[in-house]
Amino acid sequence: MPTTPPPELAPYLTPDHHRLWHEADAFTAEYLAPRVRTMEAAPYKVERKAAQLMAERGWFGVTIPTQYGGMAAGHVAKTVLIHRTGVVSAAVAAILQASLIPNGAVQHWGTAEQKAQWLPQAAAGKVLLSIAVTEPKRGGHIGGIETTADRDGDGWVITGSKAHIGNSHLAGLHVVIARTAPPGVSASQALTAFLVEHDRKGLTVRPHRPGLGLHGFTVGRLDLDRVRIPAANVLGDVGQGLFVAQSASILYGRANLAAVSLGIHEALVEMTARWLSHRERYDGQLSDLPVLRDRLGGMQNRLQLARNAAYQAVHLLDLGVPCDAQLIGAKNAGHELAADSMRDAMELHSAYGLDGDYSLQRLYRDLPYGYAPAGTGEFQRIHLAKTALGEMDIEWSQRLAAELSWTSPDPTPA
Ligand SMILES: Cc1cc2nc3c(=O)[nH]c(=O)nc-3n(C[C@H](O)[C@H](O)[C@H](O)COP(=O)(O)OP(=O)(O)OC[C@H]3O[C@@H](n4cnc5c(N)ncnc54)[C@H](O)[C@@H]3O)c2cc1C
Repeated sequence: MPTTPPPELAPYLTPDHHRLWHEADAFTAEYLAPRVRTMEAAPYKVERKAAQLMAERGWFGVTIPTQYGGMAAGHVAKTVLIHRTGVVSAAVAAILQASLIPNGAVQHWGTAEQKAQWLPQAAAGKVLLSIAVTEPKRGGHIGGIETTADRDGDGWVITGSKAHIGNSHLAGLHVVIARTAPPGVSASQALTAFLVEHDRKGLTVRPHRPGLGLHGFTVGRLDLDRVRIPAANVLGDVGQGLFVAQSASILYGRANLAAVSLGIHEALVEMTARWLSHRERYDGQLSDLPVLRDRLGGMQNRLQLARNAAYQAVHLLDLGVPCDAQLIGAKNAGHELAADSMRDAMELHSAYGLDGDYSLQRLYRDLPYGYAPAGTGEFQRIHLAKTALGEMDIEWSQRLAAELSWTSPDPTPA
């Protein structure tokens, strides 16, 4: 059943956004809701059908310019699609969001030839992208990346491993960040981004292993054993890999993860309200008890705050206003607020919340997946502390507004 956007979103939503909201609700009701149970029961399976259905709707092209076949609908539109999908299936919302991050990297850093080759396929969802930064040993420490790319004639040879890569098993093209300078060179010059097609010799995607939650989504491992790629596959300039990863993560990743957490948050508040108002106690329902209303009121309050933070940040991005701190804050607060509400939801459902066939335990397992990607909570707060201290260097949102193409941007602070 399509829902009506809540009043606090009125400043951010145009008629086109309303149309997408209803399109997403209709999609989740018709196609996703019936699939969720099957996806949950088959955690070892990669969900391809939902990706195909979203591709048919053009959703992977939501932020891609129309000249490449995208919708050019902007960041609020993207948030609508991820958020509304996430209310029904966080795993499917994760599939959508994970490919929109590298799509942004190619859009902003690609050469004219790279964009002409890949963006139409990405917009149509014929080729899904992944972005591969994290490594098994180095985790989120991008400066410690051990994957190397060495020059080989007029091309490059890449060797190393990447871990926890979103859409690892669906992606036809991976944006791989590798070290192209010797140890000791600063990360802002030592890394380079490469476009690596999934069928390049030497690239292996390890078999999908079921995780705690997000069943159907994959966060797998890529092993690159002397993978040769042509020089034309360098994304951005040699030495700009940190900026490719950082800009994609801040402009796309933070907001995308805020939208996934928001979807889960909304679902668990709805579920808890329904539970309290249907569970009989004394002469009425649990929702009649003031102490329980107090907790539900707190959940609703946190949901409103998370929703406003998520939409305000992307609205500012669409307006061209510098908003890196708002994007980062939306991701951090969105996860924290939802985690607080999750505790209330679990306790208010009491024993029923633990039942294997009850949807709340799916949300409980899915929610933690919003913490690590696009920077853990610690890293969001490190960035936010820099904002408080006036130490932020590059404002990626400002660059987004200032430049249509970053093929050779100057990444030094203005
Ligand atoms: C659902 C999901 C999707 C993901 N998608 C992708 C993807 O598409 N591409 C990709 O490259 N990666 C992806 N990741 C990986 C994600 O980016 C990493 O998990 C994250 O960067 C943290 O790395 P780690 O888990 O190895 O933890 P570690 O880096 O080992 O950190 C462990 C803990 O120590 C803290 N910590 C580490 N260093 C510091 C420090 N200097 N100061 C303060 N605290 C610190 C961290 O915050 C964390 O709490 C995904 C992860 C998940 C769960």
